[in-house]
Amino acid sequence: MLVVMSHHATSADVDAVCATIKAMGYTPAPMPGAQRTAVGLLGNDGRVDDSLIAELSGVAKVIHVSNPYKQVSREWRPENTIVTIAPGVAFGGKDVPVIAGPCSVESEAQILESARAVKAAGGKALRGGAFKPRSSPYSFQGLGKKGLELLALAKAETGLAIVTEAMDDEGAHLVAEVADCIQIGARNMQNYSLLKTVGRIGKPVLLKRGMAATIQDFLLSAEYVLSEGNPNVILCERGLRSFDSASRNLFDLTAIPVVHQLSHLPIVADPSHGTGRRDKVMPMSRAAVACGADGLMIEMHPQPDRALSDGAQSLTLEQFRDLMVQLRRVAEAVDRSIA
Ligand code: PEP
Ligand code: MN
Repeated sequence: MLVVMSHHATSADVDAVCATIKAMGYTPAPMPGAQRTAVGLLGNDGRVDDSLIAELSGVAKVIHVSNPYKQVSREWRPENTIVTIAPGVAFGGKDVPVIAGPCSVESEAQILESARAVKAAGGKALRGGAFKPRSSPYSFQGLGKKGLELLALAKAETGLAIVTEAMDDEGAHLVAEVADCIQIGARNMQNYSLLKTVGRIGKPVLLKRGMAATIQDFLLSAEYVLSEGNPNVILCERGLRSFDSASRNLFDLTAIPVVHQLSHLPIVADPSHGTGRRDKVMPMSRAAVACGADGLMIEMHPQPDRALSDGAQSLTLEQFRDLMVQLRRVAEAVDRSIA
């Protein structure tokens, strides 16, 4: 529930609303806005009786948030949330930042060469997993702490922001020391204790959609992070499991406008995992920007054929350069920009 105060409400009126919400056993969340203040009511799981609040002095109207997710909904916050992960790297505004890099951090030479290419082509952030959630326990699991050190080295040299995945609570604290944005992978989208942990850490979070998650599941997972006091969540569409093996996943681009309608959070697209095939990444990246994605996450590798994970969907450095040139044109056509 959201209590919208009138323009002339005093701070004593706002205090009285907060006190009433507390007395009802819920948590008030005052949100001062440019025009007027709203007070959110947190802690309910179902409709709340608003009779004690609606009549208080200074209350203009009471809005009942109809979705099970509250703080991530557009009803709660009509304007877009802009998530800034590092100076000049903001998701949710006019700019469409590109996060790129290899699937996994493999070696110093590999990550530095990737980082230089990302920077030179105009990418804003470097990706690369140090902790890898692999479907098989026998596949490369990532370099762990060493991988984080190599990402820190790449950041020191290029100034790129770092986006890298955390798989568990312990890893989240380690990742937070190096990353500008903590990635939660598709397989962990419903790891609620991990979501609470990254909510408490407070760093920006890139939350990937689970491979069998509905948009409602997805937004409820984001709600876990916001409910711990961290508003900086970037959603990421990365494709769904389907019956069709023609592509690795079914890349659900409809999710982009659907999420924009339901939520104020930015949503980026990952056509690399979404398609699983290098030659499909370019067309689907263009499509993602055209349909309103607030950013892109792209896998690329200096030698994709030698990659320890996801080589088939990784662009060469040259293909990545070409992609950035083409995306600028698409962005311009839809009134966005790629710096
Ligand atoms: C990744 O980004 O490399 C990754 C493991 O992605 P997902 O969680 O979407 O499978
Ligand atoms: Mn990958």
